[in-house]
Amino acid sequence: MVDRVFVADAAWLGGDTLAGPTAVGMSGDTVGWVGPPAAAPPEVAQTRVDGILLPGLTDHHVHTALIDSAELLTNGITTLLDLGGVPDELWPLVERSRHDPRLPRIRAAGPFLTAPGGYPTRQAWAPPGIALEIDDPPSAAAAVESLLPYRPVTIKVALNSEAGPVIDDVTLRTVVRVAATNGLPVTAHTQGIGQTLRAYRAGVRILAHTPWTEALTDDLIDGLTRGTTMISTLDIHGWGAPTDGRDTALHNLRRFHAAGGRVRYGSDLGNGPLPLAVNAREIAALAEAGLTPIDVLHAITGAPLRPGAVGDLTAVPADPTTNILALSQAITVCKAGHPG
Ligand SMILES: [Zn+2]
Repeated sequence: MVDRVFVADAAWLGGDTLAGPTAVGMSGDTVGWVGPPAAAPPEVAQTRVDGILLPGLTDHHVHTALIDSAELLTNGITTLLDLGGVPDELWPLVERSRHDPRLPRIRAAGPFLTAPGGYPTRQAWAPPGIALEIDDPPSAAAAVESLLPYRPVTIKVALNSEAGPVIDDVTLRTVVRVAATNGLPVTAHTQGIGQTLRAYRAGVRILAHTPWTEALTDDLIDGLTRGTTMISTLDIHGWGAPTDGRDTALHNLRRFHAAGGRVRYGSDLGNGPLPLAVNAREIAALAEAGLTPIDVLHAITGAPLRPGAVGDLTAVPADPTTNILALSQAITVCKAGHPG
């Protein structure tokens, strides 16, 4: 039973090319039907979109406590991944986002897991409760297990040896093992070669940032391409003004992508002057790192638009397969079957 239909002259449904005239029917909170407009269920009113239909967009690295999440939905981002927040504020927001049509879908890691006194506990921006401090396998296991009732989608570990102590290998491996036992991947904040290598060897499978303080070795890049996801966050280095860190991160991401690694769009919203939308500078940086427009579309969208997929849709005013910056100009959005 389709209850709403979006129609446009073109759509990107996943894959390598743009489809022609397309209708997407929503059925409750999922996609119920996709096909040519002439074949759409005739009894349902059609919403004509003067643009290109895409699956909903995802920002894989944000801090919702520091931003207005609702504005992101208006600007086309239907799903956010919060990679570090204070539990008392974060979990109720995550819960609210499941039902509130004004909010994007918010998925979260919860607080950082870190060594006593480790990053980010000493940072000026870090509120109390932002981290769970662990220093041995029992405290690591207890910390992961304490988060499970809140349904995190990953466990976030800070491995920033420049800003304080970091947990040892046996503690890190315990986090990874207990998370894996519960079906959760571990995401790590790493910056240079040493901590990235430790994370990789311990079984961490998501890097919250493209490492930016050192050029990764070819061997490490090669290892990371076999199952590790790298979240881009390239624009936090200078926010438009070139920095050495941006150059190094670009160099690392370019090699990782060229070797077949899995890249995901992430802005680190909440960290510095970033737009409450798809960040055109981040998109441009992904292109600079060698991602084609189709690669970028895969890095920023969830499941392809097809029956059974979550009912999220974003429309942009120009063909993103030739003008990828159009992603930052969303004109229509629909989350879980609700038009934004
Ligand atoms: Zn962050």
